[in-house]
Amino acid sequence: MILYLQWYNFDLHIHSVLSPCSTWDMSPKKVLAEAKKKGLDLIGITDHHSVRNYPGFCKRGKISGVKLIPAMEVQTKEEVHLLLYFRSYQQALRFEVEILKKSPSIMDDVTAIKPQCLVNDNDMVIKVEKRLLLFSVDLPLDTVIKLARTYEVLVILAHINRPAFSIYSQLGFIPPDIDIDGVEIDNYTNCKPIIPKNVGIIYGSDAHDLPTIGRFVTQAWVNEPTWEELKLALRNIEGRWLRRKDDS
Ligand SMILES: [Zn+2]
Ligand SMILES: [Zn+2]
Repeated sequence: MILYLQWYNFDLHIHSVLSPCSTWDMSPKKVLAEAKKKGLDLIGITDHHSVRNYPGFCKRGKISGVKLIPAMEVQTKEEVHLLLYFRSYQQALRFEVEILKKSPSIMDDVTAIKPQCLVNDNDMVIKVEKRLLLFSVDLPLDTVIKLARTYEVLVILAHINRPAFSIYSQLGFIPPDIDIDGVEIDNYTNCKPIIPKNVGIIYGSDAHDLPTIGRFVTQAWVNEPTWEELKLALRNIEGRWLRRKDDS
């Protein structure tokens, strides 16, 4: 493989129509068109507790020239949000089966919330997920991480500077022995949280609608926009590193 390091733009925190809190237009065609327009090279679709919209987005991404990493956002028992990036879709699916065994079976009554839609690459709804994916799993943070680590995964604490659903809002600190690869900051100017040494920092938009995509972007100095390269960049090794776009 030829080593040619250059900057690539990542937004690794985007919700699709499978998340009940997203808008109707967070579908593969529209999200990928927006990502392309905003110059993104790699995105992560991080729906709550599910990776099942990955195939449709990945197929559309190949047409649009934007790559994807299989991903999801998990809400732990403490209501801490965790971003997980898997090396393969199959591994992510196996993790999803395990994590859903530990999440409450509360059904969507449809009147209260937007349906959670599984879609194909042409924005066609192929299934409506009836089980609400929003609620905490019945596992504490360290157990979710241990379970995730049985797969090839990158573990990132989500939006740590936010006043809700973050490690600081829920626990008040980052446990020193926590087994993470990085933290996500979604608005660098609001506050400057204490970040453990030797973990990477990513900047994600947590987009639930099209205009928000690319609101915060991670720039990665890597060989190519892939999971393997992200792993190296999070560790700041072999010449790879990450920065917030506009910090240049
Ligand atoms: Zn979140
Ligand atoms: Zn999110």
